[in-house]
Amino acid sequence: MKNLKSVQAVREASQRKSSTRMTKRNQEPEKPDLEKIAEGVRLILEGIGEDPERAGLRRTPQRVAEMYAELTEGMREDPHQHVAPLPGDTHDEMVIVKDIQVASLCEHHLAPFVGRCHIAYIPKHGRILGLSKLARLVETYARRLQVQERLTSEIADTLFEGLQALGVMVVIEAEHTCMTIRGVKKPGAVTITSAIRGGFRKSARTRAEAMALIKNN
Ligand SMILES: [Zn+2]
Repeated sequence: MKNLKSVQAVREASQRKSSTRMTKRNQEPEKPDLEKIAEGVRLILEGIGEDPERAGLRRTPQRVAEMYAELTEGMREDPHQHVAPLPGDTHDEMVIVKDIQVASLCEHHLAPFVGRCHIAYIPKHGRILGLSKLARLVETYARRLQVQERLTSEIADTLFEGLQALGVMVVIEAEHTCMTIRGVKKPGAVTITSAIRGGFRKSARTRAEAMALIKNN
């Protein structure tokens, strides 16, 4: 029993280590194993009854491997690096950035989900973020295996903590190909998720104001 416990503890410690390894700054990020991914893709091709050696498919495993490496690039980036407030600003009114493109991978099907992210926040002591930084933050969390709910709250938490903002609201609208082209097949179905932090939680009026600005095209 004692042994079992210590094995478990070691395993947990190593899991903790490997999850921080991806996000800590100044550390060499792990590179994706392209050959391993390509090998898996070859097996998928065989599994569905294809011939991986036919001309059209010969380079497919390599291409798919490179695609997955690119779509999971965010795993090897530190999202916090993008939350560096612009110096010398005094703005303390609500900031809303709409329609940031989101493309991510559903971790249940490895199928893409694509949509838009809207971010509203109320800065404190003029700590605001450049627009490109916001987009980079979204992308860093989107470029990994995700579920939309977690993606939404990770963006909100990182922004809320990093900017020490008075309030943060993140809304994502996305279409999941695992839902629209397979299974229940509901083309056009859009999943909407939101994450609300700080002042937006307390004030229904502020929340409504942000939502109205987000919806108003
Ligand atoms: Zn899915």
